Amino acid sequence: MRKEQILTKIEKFKRCGQRFLPEPVCEEILSFYDIPTPPAQLARESGEAVELARQIGFPVVLKVISPQIIHKSDAGGVMVNLKSEEEVERAFRKILENAKSYNPKAEIEGIYVQKMAPPGREVIIGAVKDAQFGPVVMFGLGGIFVEVLKDVVFRVAPIDEEEAREMVDEIRGLPILKGVRGEKPIDFDSLSQAISNVSRLVVDFPQIEQFDANPVCVYPDRLYAVDARIILE
Ligand code: ADP
Ligand code: MG
Repeated sequence: MRKEQILTKIEKFKRCGQRFLPEPVCEEILSFYDIPTPPAQLARESGEAVELARQIGFPVVLKVISPQIIHKSDAGGVMVNLKSEEEVERAFRKILENAKSYNPKAEIEGIYVQKMAPPGREVIIGAVKDAQFGPVVMFGLGGIFVEVLKDVVFRVAPIDEEEAREMVDEIRGLPILKGVRGEKPIDFDSLSQAISNVSRLVVDFPQIEQFDANPVCVYPDRLYAVDARIILE
């Protein structure tokens, strides 16, 4: 059932000529694979965003959703830690303004109102299709660790949770996940499960050219993928 639903969505976007799936759709797909994401909903106008923020609970994050904007923060399309109705209203207007000046032709589907995840340790779970090996799953710490230090590990997909745990153990930044200066270790079981599940997702859907959950916020007792991107073939 879930596979057919996802396939229908993928086919729909392909038909429209959209190369990547919008964040809300990616997060729906993640939920089918038991990877938690923060509560969120799409708002079409600012009053609706305020109402959704009230329902979801402050603080929230607002994000632009547009078929022409793949990297939302590059377009000034992400505003975090909004703590009141006034801040949500202002951020809504600002994001639309930013998106327009970034790309005047951008069609805005709406603004995503998402619960702000508490500060945690940030990791990336990704996948790409390798010409030789087929789908390959990637894991690394977020931020400078991936950009500057290239501290990432790859495996040919699919992998089970044990193999995923081995991947996690291989990164140089492992002490950060184990906890430094009295911090508690992160939830390694949930993390290994999430990596293994991403590896199954990309094997299940050969239409996926590239997958990124960046960042995934990990805590001592759980995790949340706060952003996800799927690029189609
Ligand atoms: P993009 O990668 O398209 O620019 P993201 O959704 O990843 O957009 O948002 C940019 C940054 O904002 C993230 O890297 C993260 O640091 C922060 N962020 C996004 N959503 C949340 C959230 N729900 N809770 C906390 N921080 C968030
Ligand atoms: Mg991101």
